[in-house]
Amino acid sequence: MSPTLSKKILAWYDNSKRDLPWRVSKKSPKKLYYRVLSEFMLQQTQVKTVIPYFKKFTKKYKSLESLAKINENQILKLWEGLGYYRRARNLLASVKLLVKKYDSKLPKNFEEVKKLPGVGDYTANALLGFIHNQPTLAVDGNVKRVFARYLNKKETKIDFKKLISLNRNSLFITNRNSDFIESLMEFGALICKPKDPKCSHCCLKTSCKHLKSSKKTKTKNEKKVKTINYDIFCYINKKRQIALTKKNEVSFLRNFYLPPIKKMRNNSNQNNWIFLKNYKNSISNLKLNINLYYKFSNKIPQSYYWHSIKSNKEFIPSFTRKIFNQVSTLF
Ligand code: SF4
Repeated sequence: MSPTLSKKILAWYDNSKRDLPWRVSKKSPKKLYYRVLSEFMLQQTQVKTVIPYFKKFTKKYKSLESLAKINENQILKLWEGLGYYRRARNLLASVKLLVKKYDSKLPKNFEEVKKLPGVGDYTANALLGFIHNQPTLAVDGNVKRVFARYLNKKETKIDFKKLISLNRNSLFITNRNSDFIESLMEFGALICKPKDPKCSHCCLKTSCKHLKSSKKTKTKNEKKVKTINYDIFCYINKKRQIALTKKNEVSFLRNFYLPPIKKMRNNSNQNNWIFLKNYKNSISNLKLNINLYYKFSNKIPQSYYWHSIKSNKEFIPSFTRKIFNQVSTLF
């Protein structure tokens, strides 16, 4: 790898980086809090979606210590709408551990950082780079694509750990390791984009093998979308409440309250249930095809509870809120 790659990307970054709220000065006392919070939020979520949530959190909880004091329901309520709720639970558990066990500091050892709940190789590398300026790279989808295109290879054919270790001396030549991690991600998001990369404006265009090659490798395998069919059953009582339960046949919202849901079966018996409508919903790479049924009833099975459709006090996943919206058309 050419040693000029990092210098060129850093120079581009210095001129073109976005002003993002978690990018605070290296000496800021908020640095760890902002980085931990944003890294959890950015897992599988775009920057523009994360910004308002990040601002909402940091306005309400000004420090790692204040966030560490809240409970799971409070964080879920604040996280509502951002999806992948396991991240909120892991964030809270990690923040509590950082405050209690590590005196609100990030450990310097990779294996120790990985012990934080919800922190894998990617987040551990990102945090160690951002907070301790360690020479490491956080290899997300953007970074993989940049290297794959630069080398004109398929992402799946590259061993990124090996690539980084073999090119350590040429990649980390500036001692701006924290900025280098960020610059590569930013470069992938703004210049070497998934679709229509801006090759004519690219600082790497003279050495990029993808651009030069007449045989351009398709660097990424398309994500497979899976369609699942579900039947959802809504018990509704006279007070316009809906029955929710945690006992459901769904893996993507395990441990959350939802109306009873079953995988659609050809021979399923919908006796006594009234068909309301069919609609589609998407969660990550899942396409959900939903048949919604209802019945008015004051009796519900044990382990179900009545929830007011209009109530906004408790945390309710957006998947369930969409069901509420459909059911509201009955009234
Ligand atoms: S020249 Fe194009 S493909 Fe190559 S790194 Fe730059 S933007 Fe990506």
